Amino acid sequence: MNQKIDLEQLCAEKGLRITDQRRVIAKVLSESDDHPDVELLHTRAAAVDPRISIATVYRTVRLFEEAGILDRHDFGDGRSRYEPVPEAHHDHLIDVETGKVVEFVDPEVEALQRQIAERLGYRLVDHRMELYGVRLSRND
Ligand SMILES: [Zn+2]
Repeated sequence: MNQKIDLEQLCAEKGLRITDQRRVIAKVLSESDDHPDVELLHTRAAAVDPRISIATVYRTVRLFEEAGILDRHDFGDGRSRYEPVPEAHHDHLIDVETGKVVEFVDPEVEALQRQIAERLGYRLVDHRMELYGVRLSRND
């Protein structure tokens, strides 16, 4: 699940014009595995190139999202969070106290979702599942 997606290369494949600032933002996104929001992305991108404004980050993530290379998530706190479109599907568990995002795949859940869709007369083509939880133990 933590395979690195090279967003810059995907931009090239999609024919997106890549500017220096977009390259920095693409690199930051490719190297982030914590589903950052725009503010955090801006902090990381500006550490590389201080000329990058938050407006540029907003425009760039929208562009990447429209090109189908970036996934936007709403994990319930009203802030959009981003990750490069993964090569293999995964679902998310969100720690509601810390905002930490845990990725997982469960074959039984995947199969069950297909069965539910079929029972309702559909072939499943996509799904999103988000679990929200608090840690059982804080001692580890
Ligand atoms: Zn994820």
